[in-house]
Amino acid sequence: MATKQFQAESKRLLEMMINSIYSQKEIFLRELISNASDAIDKMYYKALTDDSITFNQEDYYIKVHADKDDRTLTIEDTGIGMTEEELENNLGVIAKSGSLAFKNENEIKDGHDIIGQFGVGFYSAFMVADIVTVYTKSADSTQAYKWQSNGADGYTIEPAEKAAAGTEVIIKLRENTEDENYDEFLEEHRLKSIVKKYSDYIRYPIKMDVTVQKPKDEEEKEFEDVQEEQTINSMVPIWRKNKSELETEDYEAFYAEKHYGFDKPLTHVHLSVDGAVRYQAILFIPENTPFDYYTREYEKGLELYSNGVLIMEKCADLLPDYFSFVKGIVDSEDLSLNISREMLQHDRQLKMIAKNIKNKIKSQLKTLLKEDREKYETFFKAFGRQLKFGVQMDFGSHKDDLKDLLLFYSSKEKKLVTLSEYVSRMPEEQQYIYYATGESYDRIEKLPQTEMVLDKGYEILYLNEDIDEFAIKTLMSYDDKPFKSVASGDLGIESDEDQEKEKEEQQDNKELFEEIKNLLSDKVKDVRASKRLKTHPVCLAADGEVSIEMEKVLQQMPD
Ligand code: ADP
Ligand code: MG
Repeated sequence: MATKQFQAESKRLLEMMINSIYSQKEIFLRELISNASDAIDKMYYKALTDDSITFNQEDYYIKVHADKDDRTLTIEDTGIGMTEEELENNLGVIAKSGSLAFKNENEIKDGHDIIGQFGVGFYSAFMVADIVTVYTKSADSTQAYKWQSNGADGYTIEPAEKAAAGTEVIIKLRENTEDENYDEFLEEHRLKSIVKKYSDYIRYPIKMDVTVQKPKDEEEKEFEDVQEEQTINSMVPIWRKNKSELETEDYEAFYAEKHYGFDKPLTHVHLSVDGAVRYQAILFIPENTPFDYYTREYEKGLELYSNGVLIMEKCADLLPDYFSFVKGIVDSEDLSLNISREMLQHDRQLKMIAKNIKNKIKSQLKTLLKEDREKYETFFKAFGRQLKFGVQMDFGSHKDDLKDLLLFYSSKEKKLVTLSEYVSRMPEEQQYIYYATGESYDRIEKLPQTEMVLDKGYEILYLNEDIDEFAIKTLMSYDDKPFKSVASGDLGIESDEDQEKEKEEQQDNKELFEEIKNLLSDKVKDVRASKRLKTHPVCLAADGEVSIEMEKVLQQMPD
């Protein structure tokens, strides 16, 4: 029988697994169980669409079995199984998930990161195995197959005997060494706790033979150890549980298990809605910006389940772009399972859920802002830019949803403030919300244009991100107070007297200004006298709606 080689990518990952010094080797069990559960999902789905199959809940399970004498651990499932071709394609080639794709060589050599942060899949078995054997029979085939590999030397596939459809993965554990003990993966207690830790929400029973003490006779005086099959996982998905039964740690564990991010969620919302449309959802706001967040590669979306069965991994229609950072799941019994993606887009129920979710996220953020300012600022530093994009997206149609979630740096507070805080501090005679733009707060502070406004005792919002001013322009006003750039011609605070003087000086120096204007003819439109300057001899002012900073951005934009 010919031994086949793994594909290059797979080989690298395998080597990493074989040489792994990763301390959490236990995650191999999570990976194999999740594959088993996926396989049963596929079977379930097949039964729904194929009238010749009936899905009896009790026929579908995952079984973990340890054999201490053989030093083998078996993970068996009654899922869809694999054909010979599928074996070849699925276990000979690294999963397309592409966990390796964006990692650089150094990180891969180290391996720590990658194993901790990603679902590394089937090959993680080689962290603990000398030999992995897979017996599998596809629900579409009468022939079973055996796949075997020691990792390094490639793999073999041959026909085999297996009665029912499904898959058995047999791990021959490595010999113990001075530093490493693999026997722990044969211990009942250890196995049970790993299953609980990672796989508690798997929707199918994960069974194990467990030793229990039973009375030997009626009098219950003497006991003996007997093996009894038990279901270890609690199965009910976390989102179906009662909020009151759950701790923050449970949500964090779910977030990690789902690979929503490498961080911990900053906050979450757990919804159980029983109205015109029924659904459960858990939504997370991450703490950190995902590495690809502000790129085209980033895909927004929530996991969408129909009554506990996954129908879409990333349903984009559930989230507006400005909340694209939200992670989580939605499960609704009102959605049909066989719905196509195209139909889903127009689904009324889905639209209602999406709207509802949008409002829930908004109010969750408002609550965070009110009750935990520090956390909110962490959030805003990670995703505030996206909210500002949101303000000007779609011709500003979302600005009312977003205006109270924005923060800007304040000259007065020397920290981020909300627009409502700004307005509440405005002296009665102040007509405008003033802002100044520049590359950094430091530089903005030194702008000659800010002087007069600051002297008046008015607060200025310092905008240092290119998107800021676009958002402000879209908002136009807040609480009926229009925004005004300190660089604009008329600040609304010049006295009549000053304006008179300006006119006089303009008149007196007409020739001088003409001369300067001619010298700078390609750089400025006009040269004028100003009463606004205090300690600076000259400043640049923008004429019209587009500021100097905005012009810079506009010039950088591709046509
Ligand atoms: P992923 O689960 O992310 O696709 P894995 O490396 O865990 O990646 O598994 C690779 C593929 O092997 C799976 O996508 C699936 O097609 C197949 N597979 C693995 N385990 C099983 C199983 N127990 N039953 C059926 N197919 C399986
Ligand atoms: Mg997997």
